[in-house]
Amino acid sequence: MKNHKIIVANWKMNPSIFQGIELLKSINQSINEMKVSSKIVICPPSLIIRDALIIFSNSIVSIGSQDCHHAEIGPYTGDLSYKMFEDIGCEYAIIGHSERRANHFEDNKLIFEKLNSINRSKIIPILCVGESFVERKSGLASEAVIRQIDESGINKLEFDQKIIAYEPIWAIGSGKIPTRDEIMSIHSKIREKLDTEGNNKDIKVLYGGSVNTENVSDIFSINGVDGALVGGASLKKADFIKIIESAEI
Ligand code: PEP
Repeated sequence: MKNHKIIVANWKMNPSIFQGIELLKSINQSINEMKVSSKIVICPPSLIIRDALIIFSNSIVSIGSQDCHHAEIGPYTGDLSYKMFEDIGCEYAIIGHSERRANHFEDNKLIFEKLNSINRSKIIPILCVGESFVERKSGLASEAVIRQIDESGINKLEFDQKIIAYEPIWAIGSGKIPTRDEIMSIHSKIREKLDTEGNNKDIKVLYGGSVNTENVSDIFSINGVDGALVGGASLKKADFIKIIESAEI
C-alpha cells in the first residue's frame, strides 16, 4: 500500500505580503492541475492566513499557523491564540520551532501549555524537536530529542493525530542534512517513545532541515519518514511543486 506523505511548508516571515498572496495563488493553480495523494499543509505568515484559506477553499491543501498563544483570549499584546486560528479555519499549528525556542525563549514547559490548549481544539499539532550541533557531535542527539518530547508532554496528551517534525537545528537553512542512518535512528527512537507511552493512535514523524529538490527523494525513501517540513524550498513555487511530485513516485 502506498505510504501517503505529509508535506508541510513553513514560510516563516517570508515573502512580502503581496508576493506571498501571489505565491499562494500560483501554488494553488499548479496543485489543481496535479494528482496529489499526499497531505499538503501551508503555514504562511499570520497576516495572510485568511487569504490562504480563501485561495485554497476548494483545494486539498490545508492551512496552518507557525505558532499560537496558549490562552484563548486575554491581555497578551501582539499574540494570537490557538482558538483564533481554529476559528478562522486553520487545521494545523507548528509548535516549538527551534527559531521560536531561540528567538522567543520558548521552553518545553511553555510548549506543553501550547499543546495542552491545542488539545482542546480541532487543530493538529506539528511539534518540532531537534538537537544542536554540539549535541550531535557529543553523541547526545537522541537524548536531546527524547527530552524535548518528554518535557513537552506530547507523548502523554491524547490527540487524534500527532505530527512530530525532527529538525536538527544545525540542518535548518544550512544546506547540511544528517545521514540516512542518523535520520532513521532518531525517527525510530521518536516512534518507539510514542508507541510505548500514552494514547498514541496516529503518529507521523516528518524530517525537516534543508530539504530541497535534490535530496527529497532520498529522504522520502528512508524507513520511518512520513513526510517533510520544508522551509526555504517551499518559497520557490517550482521547487515546492517538485517536492510534492517526489512524494508521488
Ligand atoms: C524550518 O525552519 O522549518 C526548515 C525546515 O527550514 P529549511 O528547510 O529552510 O532548512
